[in-house]
Amino acid sequence: MRIRAAVAEEQAKPLVVEELEIDDPRDDEVLVRMVATGICQTDSHVLHQRIPAPLPMVLGHEGAGVVERIGKSITDLQPGDHVVLSFQACGECPQCLSGHPAYCERTVAANFGGARFDGTRALHRANGDVNGHFFGQSSFATHALTTRRNTVKVSKDVPLETLAPLGCGVQTGAGAVLNSFALSEGDTIAVFGVGAVGFSAVMAARAACAATIIAVDVNEQRLALAEELGATHTVNARSADDVADAIKAIASTGVNYVLDTTGRPDMIAHAVSSLTMMGKVGLVAGAAPDASIRAADLALGKSVQGIIQGDVTPELFIPKLVQMYKDGIFPVDRLVSFYDFEDINTAFADAASGDVVKPVLRFSKGPESSV
Ligand SMILES: [Zn+2]
Ligand SMILES: [Zn+2]
Repeated sequence: MRIRAAVAEEQAKPLVVEELEIDDPRDDEVLVRMVATGICQTDSHVLHQRIPAPLPMVLGHEGAGVVERIGKSITDLQPGDHVVLSFQACGECPQCLSGHPAYCERTVAANFGGARFDGTRALHRANGDVNGHFFGQSSFATHALTTRRNTVKVSKDVPLETLAPLGCGVQTGAGAVLNSFALSEGDTIAVFGVGAVGFSAVMAARAACAATIIAVDVNEQRLALAEELGATHTVNARSADDVADAIKAIASTGVNYVLDTTGRPDMIAHAVSSLTMMGKVGLVAGAAPDASIRAADLALGKSVQGIIQGDVTPELFIPKLVQMYKDGIFPVDRLVSFYDFEDINTAFADAASGDVVKPVLRFSKGPESSV
């Protein structure tokens, strides 16, 4: 069938919205009509080829929509179901089998390869195939082909446009706190960098009853929003003489956890210095190549962990976040700003300038839709 998609044709060039042909779903695939999709920094990293992936490609990996058609072997989804899309994994490697699909051995091919695992592509135009299957979805399009594994059914009483970012940025921050750190009531945490991931970490820490939640950023407006969303303290990294000293002025011997979303060498060094004994730093951004950690600084039982996608199993974690939203303890709607799909390049620019925290594109319902 014909769809409209935003194609990343060339490195760093504006996306081009055009018509493509999409395959019918195979037996194990799901055709989803997109209602909304978030834009995440990883989309921009691939467009600029800071993360390698083949172009031309349809990007987008925070899709949310309505199931339109299902493959023959899928028994537990129905046309009309509301779904949030998440990352892709093989489902067969040791990490997948032990409940850690974010660390799938085939994660690069599954999410950045531009094709299904068998090398075929579902998106076509007159001059050939277009790379797709980005994070198992390529959600910058009116329709996407997903698999059962990365398609999460959600309740219909929450707007899909609010839930779209749950499948990557939001679960990354919330999962880091609730899974990787397993933060408990009374623990202390600092979050370095409050964008969509950092705000999600702050909200999750609040929901888990952390005693002290310190948001660190250089943007006063974002620090003010962090306080509204649960931060007990804020530190402006630009005006503080030393970020670690500022944190220890709040949390005496240091904090139990630091989540770094910046990847900056100076902030990663501050993160280790900000920890109390046996504290842990989580790194969720790609660290700058010159970022390093001195082994001697870990002597007091400290540890540093790289974290992908909050170490979540989306099928279990996303419904939990939806319930937390419905309970009023995870107000993800405070993070999103809406754009029409056709204004995708404006949304990219606003995200890059820091004007918006989480841009979400909305699709108008086309006449060809059956549900
Ligand atoms: Zn992402
Ligand atoms: Zn795997």
